[in-house]
Amino acid sequence: MPSYDLVIVGAGSSGCIATKTAVLNGLEVCLIDCKPRQNIGDKICGDAIARHHFDSLGIKYPSGQELEHEIKGVKVYSPDMESVFKIEGEGVSGFIVDRLMLGQRLLKGALDCGVTFHDNTLALEPIISNSFVKGVKSRNLNTGKVEKIYSKLTMDASGFSAALRRNLPKNFGFIKSIKNQDLLPCFREIRDDVDFRSDYCKIFLSQEIAPGGYYWIFPKNNEKVNVGLGVQGLKNHPNPKEILYKNVISKDIFRKSIILNSGGGFVPTRRPIDSLVSDGIMFLGDAACLVNPIHGGGIGPSMLSGKLATEVAVMALSKGIPSKDLLWEYNLKYMKEYGAKQAGLDIFRILLQSLKDDEINYGMKHQLIKPEDILETSLKGELKISITEKVTRVFKGLKKIDLLRNLKKTADKMQLAKNLYQNYPENEEFEAWAKKIRTLYEL
Ligand SMILES: Cc1cc2nc3c(=O)[nH]c(=O)nc-3n(C[C@H](O)[C@H](O)[C@H](O)COP(=O)(O)OP(=O)(O)OC[C@H]3O[C@@H](n4cnc5c(N)ncnc54)[C@H](O)[C@@H]3O)c2cc1C
Repeated sequence: MPSYDLVIVGAGSSGCIATKTAVLNGLEVCLIDCKPRQNIGDKICGDAIARHHFDSLGIKYPSGQELEHEIKGVKVYSPDMESVFKIEGEGVSGFIVDRLMLGQRLLKGALDCGVTFHDNTLALEPIISNSFVKGVKSRNLNTGKVEKIYSKLTMDASGFSAALRRNLPKNFGFIKSIKNQDLLPCFREIRDDVDFRSDYCKIFLSQEIAPGGYYWIFPKNNEKVNVGLGVQGLKNHPNPKEILYKNVISKDIFRKSIILNSGGGFVPTRRPIDSLVSDGIMFLGDAACLVNPIHGGGIGPSMLSGKLATEVAVMALSKGIPSKDLLWEYNLKYMKEYGAKQAGLDIFRILLQSLKDDEINYGMKHQLIKPEDILETSLKGELKISITEKVTRVFKGLKKIDLLRNLKKTADKMQLAKNLYQNYPENEEFEAWAKKIRTLYEL
C-alpha cells in the first residue's frame, strides 16, 4: 500500500469536510469507509440541521429533493403537555433533509477534489510505531484481505464507533468507551401518511415515557415525518423501540401511516473527549463526542471539526512530523468555537436528566427559564434563570425550593465549565486541567 499525507477513516459529515479541506490545501489523502459508496450518508438521524451551520462553513443550503422541509424553529412540550416553549430565530431555523442525499452531496464534494477513496473498507486498528500513529490497518470487505495504509497523519472520523480511538493502546490516554449515563440509545422511523403538518420540530419531554431523554416528531415533506425516541443509556434502560411504539406510534395521527425506514443508533450526549489529538492522530465528530448534549445535533459540529482539524493538520504537516504538540492548536480552536458551549450544556443535560416530571412541569409553567433564554442557552451554553420573589414564594409553597437552588447551582457550574474550556490549556498544563474537569463533572 502507498503512503499518504493523511488517511481519514469515515466518510460521514466530518470526514468529507476534512477530506475536501485537505485536498484543496494540497495534501495527498486516502479516505476509507466501511459502507458501499452509494450508502454513505444513510444514517439513523433526526435529519434536522440549523441554517447557521451552513452559513458559517460556507456550504450551500440543501435544495431540491435533499430539502424535505424548511423549519422555523422548535416547540418543546412539558410532560403534562400544558406548557409549550416555542423557540424561534436565527439559531434554530433550518432544514429537515434527506440524510442520504446530504451525505452523498458532501461525499461528492470531497471526491470531486481528487482523493483516493476506498469504500467497503473497514478500519480495524491504528498502526503504531514508537508510540506514534502511522496509519490504519483495514480489511477490504469485498475480498476479506487485510491491508495496511500508511500515512503521516491519521484522522478518526468513524462516528460513534470511534474505530481508532477504541483501539489505541492505554498509554495514549483516551477513553475507550463512553459511560452509559452519557449515551442516548435511540430508535427512529420515517413514516408517511401521518396526520401531522407543522413548520416546527416538536420535542416532547417526559421522564415517564422516555427516562433521561425525549421523543420527537419532525416534519418532512407532505405527510412524511421523522419520529423517534431516546432514553438515557443507564443499565436496564427501557427499549426505545418498544416505548416509542407503545406511547407515540399508538397515537391517532399515526393510524394510517406506513413505515419507510426504521432503525436505532446511539448519541454520545456529553462534552468533548478531553483532548482531540495525540501523536499522529486527530479525532473528529462523534468519534470525539462533539454532539450538542441537549438536543443531540451533531452534523453541524462534526463538519466544523472536519474544517478546524484539517486547517491545523495542513499547518502541522508543513512544519514536519505531526506531533501532539503541533496538532494541539486544534484543541484550542475547537474548544473555543464550540466545545466550551458543549461543556456548559453537558452540565445542564445532567440536571435535566435528574428532574422529575412535576419539576419540569412547574419549571416550564412558571417560566424559570424563559423560551427566549432556551435559545440563548443552547447557542451559548449559559443558563439565565429568572427567580423573582413571586416565583420563590410559589416554589416555597409547593415545597420545591430545592429545584430553585439546584437550578442556580447548575447555572454557576455551567459558567465554570465554559470558562475552563474557553481557557483550554497548553499541552504542558493539560493534566492539571483534566483533573479539574473530572472533579467538576463528578461532583
Ligand atoms: C437517532 C439519532 C438522531 C440524530 N439526529 C440528529 C439531528 O436531527 N441533527 C443532527 O445534527 N444530528 C443528529 N444526530 C447526530 C448526527 O447524526 C451525528 O452527530 C453526525 O452524523 C456525526 O458525524 P460524523 O462524521 O462524526 O459521523 P458519521 O456521520 O456517523 O459518519 C461516520 C462514518 O464512518 C464510517 N465508519 C464507521 N466505522 C468505520 C470503520 N471501522 N471503518 C471505516 N469506516 C467506518 C461509517 O460508515 C460512516 O460513514 C442524530 C444521531 C442519532 C443516532
